[in-house]
Amino acid sequence: MTNEEYSNFLLPNVEHDWKYYEEKYPKRNISESQFVTRFAPSPTGFVHMGSLYASFADLQLAKQTNGICILRIEDTDGKRTVENGVQGIIDDFKNLGITFDEGMGFGGEYGPYLQSERKDIYQAYAKKLIEEGLAYPCFATPEYLDEIREYQAHKKLRIGIYKKYAKDRDLSQEEVLERIKNGEKYIIRLKSPGNFDNKVVLHDLIKGDIEMPENDIDEVIIKSDGLPTYHFAHAIDDHLMHTTHVIRGDEWVSSYPIHEQLFKVLGFELPKYAHIAPITKKEGNIVRKLSKRKDEDAAISYYVKKGIPTQVIRLYLATIENYDFEEWYTNNPDKTIDDFNFEFDKMPIGGTAFDIEKLMSISKIYFSRLKNTELFDMLDKYTEEYDVDFNKVINENKEYTLNILNIERDIERPRKDIGALDEVKSYFWYMYPTLFDENNDVYFEIKSCDKNIVLDYINNIYDKNDDQEKWFNKLKEFASLNGYCSDKKEYKENPDKYIGMVSDFCALLRVIICKKNQSPNIYYLIKYLGKEELIKRINKYYN
Ligand code: GLU
Repeated sequence: MTNEEYSNFLLPNVEHDWKYYEEKYPKRNISESQFVTRFAPSPTGFVHMGSLYASFADLQLAKQTNGICILRIEDTDGKRTVENGVQGIIDDFKNLGITFDEGMGFGGEYGPYLQSERKDIYQAYAKKLIEEGLAYPCFATPEYLDEIREYQAHKKLRIGIYKKYAKDRDLSQEEVLERIKNGEKYIIRLKSPGNFDNKVVLHDLIKGDIEMPENDIDEVIIKSDGLPTYHFAHAIDDHLMHTTHVIRGDEWVSSYPIHEQLFKVLGFELPKYAHIAPITKKEGNIVRKLSKRKDEDAAISYYVKKGIPTQVIRLYLATIENYDFEEWYTNNPDKTIDDFNFEFDKMPIGGTAFDIEKLMSISKIYFSRLKNTELFDMLDKYTEEYDVDFNKVINENKEYTLNILNIERDIERPRKDIGALDEVKSYFWYMYPTLFDENNDVYFEIKSCDKNIVLDYINNIYDKNDDQEKWFNKLKEFASLNGYCSDKKEYKENPDKYIGMVSDFCALLRVIICKKNQSPNIYYLIKYLGKEELIKRINKYYN
């Protein structure tokens, strides 16, 4: 049998040979400075904080170099695949408004982008290796493999099929054909040319140079179901898709020697590698990877329900991804994330603890920078789904709601109170008479004065046309003439002579208006509520 006949016999029904695929997927017409990255999840569940974090660098770096980011779905491990997992990932990304330049659900010339649809491609390259004597069929049974593993573990030896454990490595064609005729099952292994005493160096773009022993293990490349292992698929796919930068979780660092070797034996050019450390969570004294099963705040649905936009999650991830991003973002109110230049050497080498408080504080900055119309549109959409009653209230008089949302917004240092859309109601309910009546009084200590004084102020002093300065000067003068003190020192010395300070008069107005001891500037609250509503509230307060 010629080598070609032999490889055809071992892997029959492969439609094309590897040369066909080399031609089908030619080099991309891009310059050296453009990155081709790929996010390559396995369809094991919904998109979560960890996957967004991992895809973030791929997307950002491709975008900022005018390159290409691919979504490739790695479903070669049927046992881990969940129902609807593939479509679920595509839908999740699309719902989050995240698009890839190419890939599953996004099209492109370098597909298919689902590994199970690339079986023929992997087998074509496995046949090439068989023909060159660089791969071989292995008949080892699961029992034999278990036995070897146990023995190696017991003797504290390296685990795997290498040297004397690779029993089928040098079988002759005749022996192989005989065993197949006898019905023995086989998989395909790499015939590793490596020597464990030699070193390979991973030039990691984040972690720096890492020296490791060369791979000498005869790794499986094609499994019993005909599909490739992760290692083999990685080499073939990233070669044929012309990935320039493999950005992936750092659990893959230790597999690098296998990958480097596979690229070498296949005659492929090695891409650049960047291994990212995971987002972690502290549980007691243990620091572990953020878990989509254990941590409710790892699920994107958690943020969707609260009304925290994807953009905020991206901003938060950017603060982890590059250490100087947060400062840049804080100092550049009119820039977006896409104006920032992400760099590998500013990425964390070790795991970063997930910090929901930081995420919320970034969210507050984000919301404070929105225009009132933008905030209204988001709130409208959000309440339509999560709070229909409030949706009606804000839409009854849209102009009025826009004014309210604009309080202390359109200024140099906008108010940073809203962190999520589900909080907006708790900040502004009192500006809507129906909601004001529904809310029970809140009691805390307040220096009250005679009702007539407040009525006198509203009826005879307050003028809606006054600007803020004039309004305050008039209020201060009025309060001083009606038993309030405008001088701190004087008040400290003779507290009994006064009802309180001028600030106490403001606090009283605030309670009358919103039953709270904190609120945005009451100048605006009074202005938008109007005299008539205010008088109603004064009457209610003194009832
Ligand atoms: N499917 C692999 C995983 O989910 C991807 C690793 C890679 O990006 O190459 O871990």
